[in-house]
Amino acid sequence: MKTLNTETVSRRAMWGMVFRFAVVAPLPLLAPIFLRLVNASGFALAPVIVLGLTNALINGDQVFFWCSISVAVSAFEILTDVLNYPMQLWFSNRATLHFQGKLLKQTSQIPLLHFLDADFHDLLSRANRGFSDRMVDWFRSVLDNIHGVATLVGLLSTVLIIGGGWCAAVLFLCSVVVLLTQKPIVFLGEKKDRDVARPRRAQETWAEVLTSRTSGGEIRLFMLQNWLLTKWEKSYQTLADVEVTALKKRMKWDALARLSSMVGYAIIIFIAAHAAQNADSKEAAGIFTGLITAAVAFQGFLFFFYGSLGSLAEHSGVLRELATLFTIQSASVEKDSDSDQQLDTNVLPQLNTEHTTIQIDALSFRYPHAAVDTLKDITAKIAPGEIVALVGKNGAGKTTLANILLGLYSPQRGNLEFNAGTHKSSPVVSAVFQNFARFLLPVRDNVGFGDIARIQEENGIQNALVKAGSTFSQDLDAWLGSEFGGRDVSGGEWMRIAVARGLFRNSNFIVFDEPTTSIDPVAEVEMARQLLTKHASRSVIVVSHRLGIARLCDQILVLDAGRLVEQGSHDELISSGGLYAKMWNAQAAWYT
Ligand code: ADP
Repeated sequence: MKTLNTETVSRRAMWGMVFRFAVVAPLPLLAPIFLRLVNASGFALAPVIVLGLTNALINGDQVFFWCSISVAVSAFEILTDVLNYPMQLWFSNRATLHFQGKLLKQTSQIPLLHFLDADFHDLLSRANRGFSDRMVDWFRSVLDNIHGVATLVGLLSTVLIIGGGWCAAVLFLCSVVVLLTQKPIVFLGEKKDRDVARPRRAQETWAEVLTSRTSGGEIRLFMLQNWLLTKWEKSYQTLADVEVTALKKRMKWDALARLSSMVGYAIIIFIAAHAAQNADSKEAAGIFTGLITAAVAFQGFLFFFYGSLGSLAEHSGVLRELATLFTIQSASVEKDSDSDQQLDTNVLPQLNTEHTTIQIDALSFRYPHAAVDTLKDITAKIAPGEIVALVGKNGAGKTTLANILLGLYSPQRGNLEFNAGTHKSSPVVSAVFQNFARFLLPVRDNVGFGDIARIQEENGIQNALVKAGSTFSQDLDAWLGSEFGGRDVSGGEWMRIAVARGLFRNSNFIVFDEPTTSIDPVAEVEMARQLLTKHASRSVIVVSHRLGIARLCDQILVLDAGRLVEQGSHDELISSGGLYAKMWNAQAAWYT
């Protein structure tokens, strides 16, 4: 799996995203830019206006003309300022819809293995944090920079005209020094962003554990409040330390930038005095006030520009994170275009009516960052309609193998083929996971999500609920979960609803991962019989500790430390006297 590093994302990828957005929504992007350019021209013209007005007042000539120019320029500035905010909001609404919508969709399609990677979680948490606000901030800093460049060019030209080459050169040099300090400041800002992601997540996790309902009972019972609070305080302290350290480093560069701007300002004042002394008496006052206005405007502006360059770099983080996450997705799509996986959620999979054979050949799998393979050299075949049990001790690799069969993880070595020998096709798969989802929504949606295209099929949903033994088959509109005012149901009832969801999907094969753990032993037998009913075109793979369930299956695959150590029917495995027989005898001892 690729390591996630936002530093390596190219500027091209980032600006490519902006360009695509410009094509989708040109007006919300271009209109605010135009307004900022108009606004900047008013800023740059200020010294010329002051010069003209001063000379007009002293010489008693063209006073009303310069007053009118001054009023007109101010009016333009005010108007563009007023329109600035609605324009930014317009942009931010469109951009959030476009980028965050894309991010949410892409995240829901990214291969699940990435969710086992802490770096991925850091990145995702950074990307989603205050998305719209950060988008607005980013755009505001882009606009500020456009404004900054336009003002800088305008002011330098004005100073060149009024005060000559030396004056413009001094201002230019100061700007260069100030702007150069931006690079280390940006670097420090980016580093700080990366450094705070992990402690911030840790702090949020401790807060979540302290206040969540699922952990609430145990926290009170085991009196974990103080211990958890200390953890929260420590992670908060780490976060604060990172921020203070970054600020200290940044302040040195800030001081250099301010010093350079001060020196520039002082030099301009002396040049202005010198120029005024040597100028024609009718023009001397105008030149002096014009240049002083330019120097004051320049100093104020330089720090505005300096800040906006820094904030552009800081807020570009949001683009960098998006580009990195989108790159993961395109890499996965590229990889999967060679395989049978279908990642595009716009295309719902069609049920392949052919009976599906699953052929597993010398398959090995290792989790990211793990030192050893979790699955080693597995070879097995599952015939159409066959009911197969995956058994083995905890950690033997059953769930991992089931997830690979479902296409959620890709094996690093070996092959997994469907309908091998005839032609390859992608099967429609269904599953009931050990950690199944509990959607705080009506029963209808909870079951209908198994086959979204058929969510309106009331009879199908009811049948699935009946097969799963749920009491909700006549109550499809009941809202589940008390968090949104719905019904609080037992773990067993949630499990039956998850089973109904899995059954509702017309699939070539279905995986049940410990499907009866929350069900009482009497109901369990009935449920197991329902789930393991023979169906000519649908294979069933059931992961279970309960060997009573394995006994009902056609074939049993026994895993031990990632290896397939035995396979056969219950009777065959009992008579061979291997690991399965030992496990069977151990479990049987409980009931005799
Ligand atoms: P089973 O379902 O048989 O109990 P699993 O398939 O869940 O076993 O796990 C098999 C092995 O893989 C275990 O040793 C487990 O610790 C390891 N494992 C599971 N998930 C991860 C992961 N995300 N990263 C590293 N190792 C994992």
